[in-house]
Amino acid sequence: MDKVKGSCLCGAVKFTCDNDFQQFHFCHCTQCQKTTGSAHVSNLFTRVENIEWESGQEQVKRYDVPGRSLTSAFFTTCGSPVPYVSGSGKALVVPAGSLDSAPSMAPQDNIFWAERAKWYEDGLLSTKFSGIPE
Ligand SMILES: [Zn+2]
Repeated sequence: MDKVKGSCLCGAVKFTCDNDFQQFHFCHCTQCQKTTGSAHVSNLFTRVENIEWESGQEQVKRYDVPGRSLTSAFFTTCGSPVPYVSGSGKALVVPAGSLDSAPSMAPQDNIFWAERAKWYEDGLLSTKFSGIPE
């Protein structure tokens, strides 16, 4: 099985997963906008046991949103989203941006599209630069 490594922004969290994901969703709900400070989460789903933590796990914090099956898990030093077991206990949720290389599957869909940020589609259509514009 192909492996994929992941890490947080400061590098203290390191983990490895089998590159074997069953679902990949962009969630645009208002809570996911808050957890990212951006337009949506990009979450992969895999088997609960599909993770080997190399470091940092003991400093991960978890916040479960009351009344919803929605969780924010992040490393306490740098605030980066990191993998966590879903509230139902049935899946490991892996933020796609926490991976150091590409996952085995492409995004399947955009969920909670009705709650998307008003500026999201304008952003997709706006001018692209390969780096900071001169
Ligand atoms: Zn959401």
